This record gives sequence, structure tokens and C-alpha cells, in this order.
Amino acid sequence: MTRCRFLIVGGGIAGLSTAWHLARAGHGRETVLLEAEPHLASHSTARNAAILRTLSSDPLSTRIALTSADFLRQPPAGFCDVPLVDAKGLVLAAGPERADEIAGWLKAVGETPIRVEALSAARLRALSPAFRAEVAAAWSFPEEGRIDIGALVAGFVRGAQAGGVELCRDREVEELAVEDGRVCGARMRGGEEISADTTVLAAGGWAAGLGSRAGSRVALRPTRRHLLVTAPGPEARREWPVIWYFGSVAEGEFYCRPEGDGMLFCACEVTDVDPNALGIDPDVQGAIATKVARHLPDFAAAGVAHFWCGMRTLTGDGRFAVGPDPDLAGLFWVAGLGGAGMVCGAEVGRIAGRLLTGEPVAPDVETGLSPARLAEMRVGRGARQRSA
Ligand SMILES: Cc1cc2nc3c(=O)[nH]c(=O)nc-3n(C[C@H](O)[C@H](O)[C@H](O)COP(=O)(O)OP(=O)(O)OC[C@H]3O[C@@H](n4cnc5c(N)ncnc54)[C@H](O)[C@@H]3O)c2cc1C
Repeated sequence: MTRCRFLIVGGGIAGLSTAWHLARAGHGRETVLLEAEPHLASHSTARNAAILRTLSSDPLSTRIALTSADFLRQPPAGFCDVPLVDAKGLVLAAGPERADEIAGWLKAVGETPIRVEALSAARLRALSPAFRAEVAAAWSFPEEGRIDIGALVAGFVRGAQAGGVELCRDREVEELAVEDGRVCGARMRGGEEISADTTVLAAGGWAAGLGSRAGSRVALRPTRRHLLVTAPGPEARREWPVIWYFGSVAEGEFYCRPEGDGMLFCACEVTDVDPNALGIDPDVQGAIATKVARHLPDFAAAGVAHFWCGMRTLTGDGRFAVGPDPDLAGLFWVAGLGGAGMVCGAEVGRIAGRLLTGEPVAPDVETGLSPARLAEMRVGRGARQRSA
């Protein structure tokens, strides 16, 4: 196709969920998705911790996460034939410096229903005996845990295709096509062009570069984070919940969960990165080892089975960027999914699909996610960030 109504750039969770929702609303045959790689969902969407955590510092983001979690727990009929959530539970545990802050996040959720129980030290110990960090307060979210990323991606791909979306792999967009201040499609490597009424930037860490080369002022911050999985050891138990620890302000966060017969660990570092030069930093392995020795000493000597990194693309205020570009007509953003794209991707795609087709969205969501706010906002070190 050389012309379409909606041209989606990027085949990660952001682009695929948007494509699926457009197909579901009857616009599949008017939609083309271009993915640079030979396989869909092979960047951040394939490299994350797959944790379902809904609570964050921002009540609007928590609300979006809770709605998305409902989709994950009860996807529409025919979406997939396996459960998308393994609800072994999620525990948020805070050291003395951050306990009041996390309690405040829960208060701010207000009337929004969220299943949570305060945990005593003894109960936390029973749930996860290997975890020994200094904990001043802990909460258990029994309906949260781990997402089946493969099944989620496959569900979006299958549904989008069945609804008529053309999913094109190995098609790298070199630049957006701009005429008279309007984005009117994209030029691909090799010279092929495709024109579109609306071009949807869902290119993860690459979205900001593509946008700014076309003249957009929307700023995003691609950052790198590493994950480590230990070699199988007798100490790890598959029934342990995800534990997310908020240590002192100086130490920062740390999370872990069982992975097969080993454990997955993250030191929660945030490092700015060039999306085209994403490489592993071996020093982070040392930072993870330090936190593991302190918080789960039984695993201090565990072998390493896998160590990898991926990109989390942040915004200046920690909220996603979903909506039209403030300056360039014909350009629409579904980006800045930060550390919550796997939890929130389903709802983000629904919001994007509705805005693209002129359907109403709750006004606070439309304003709160509008990319216009990011044209003026500082993005960089010190800007707020959230989740995995
Ligand atoms: C270490 C780590 C742990 C994480 N853990 C969690 C977690 O536990 N829970 C959670 O909810 N989230 C987590 N996340 C965040 C989550 O992975 C991201 O929010 C999500 O994957 C972002 O999806 P995306 O579609 O925006 O980006 P991507 O998945 O990166 O997709 C973007 C796509 O665009 C394509 N593309 C780029 N440029 C072009 C171009 N020019 N032409 C065509 N295609 C292009 C890319 O090839 C890519 O496939 C984690 C992230 C990291 C790095």
C-alpha cells in the first residue's frame, strides 16, 4: 500500500496495541504498521522484567495501569488462550526514608479500587524468606505479579492482522515526510515512500529522534536499564512474589522475582543512552551484586545465567505521551512508555485508538497525556520517572 489513513511507525507494544485497537474499531484496513526489525517486538518489549505493578506516584498513571491490568486479567474473548497474568503477588517494601511517601501514593489513589493489604514484618518474611532488607512498611498486591509478554504480543499481532492491519517487518523509516508543516507519511530506507493522513510515532527510544528531525519540539529521554538472572539454584522458590524495594534516597530502588529456577534482579539504575549505541555496562553487574548481597544475602554467590539491558524512554513528568503533536499536523505520538509499557500498553493503545478516530476520552487523561506539555518541559536528569 502506498497510501493509508493511519501509518504506525514501530512494532513494539505501543504500536501493536494501537494497531489492535484501531482494528477492533473497524479501521484495520486503513492501517499500516512499519517495523524496522525482521521481527516485531524485539526491542524494549522483548527485554523487560514483565512485572505487573500498578501503583505509582502519579494517581492518573495508577488509574491507567489499573484499567490496563483489568484487560490483562480478562482480555476480550479470543484474544489468547492462556492467562496473561501469573498473580503470584507483588510486594512493595519501603525502608524508613520512603515509607511515608509510598503510603502517600496509596492514599492518593482515593476511590479507585486497588486490592492491597498492609504486610507485617513476619508475614513478609513468610512470603519471601530470602529477602532481608531493612523494611519500615510493606504492602502486598495479591492480584499483581508477572505478565506473559509472549502471549500478550501474540494476541495483539493476531487480532491486528485478523482485523486487516498490514504489519510490515524489515521496513525502517528513515525520515517522516513533511510538506508545508504537515507530516504526510514516511520515507523508508531504500527510498520507498508511504503517505498517510496521520503518522503515529510508536518507535520507543527512537521516536524523539524521528520527531525532532521532522521539526517536532516534543522531548523524550531514552535511558538504559539492566536485568540479571541467576543460574538455577536450590534457594529460589517459584511461588515467591515480586518484591520491589524502596531503599534510602541515596541507595535507590531494587526489585527481584523468581525466574525459572533462578532469580531476576534489577538495581533500578537510570542512564541516558543513545538508542543506536545501546550496549551492556559491565559495572552494573557489580551494582546489582552489591544490592543482592545486602538484601538477599543467600544469593550473593549465585552464578549469572543472563545479563542484558533495554531502553526505558522517559518523559519530563513520568506520564506517557499519547496524542497529536502540538505543532505538526498529521503527527500523533504513542511514546514515552517509560518503565510501565507492558502493564499499561493495552490501555495506552485504547486511548490512542479513540483519539485517532475522534472518539471521546476522559478529559483529564487527554490533557494529562497530551504531548503538547512535553514541548516546553525539561527532560533529563532529575525529571521524574516511574516504575520498572
Ligand atoms: C530493563 C527493563 C525492565 C522493564 N520492566 C518492565 C516491567 O516489568 N513492566 C512494564 O510494564 N514495563 C517494563 N519495562 C518497560 C517496557 O519494556 C517499555 O515501556 C515498553 O516495551 C515500550 O514499548 P514501545 O513499543 O514503546 O518500545 P519498543 O518495544 O522498543 O518498540 C519500538 C519499536 O519501534 C521500532 N522502530 C524504531 N525506530 C524505527 C524506525 N525508524 N522505523 C521503523 N520501526 C522503528 C523498533 O525496532 C521497535 O520494535 C521495562 C523496560 C526495561 C528496559
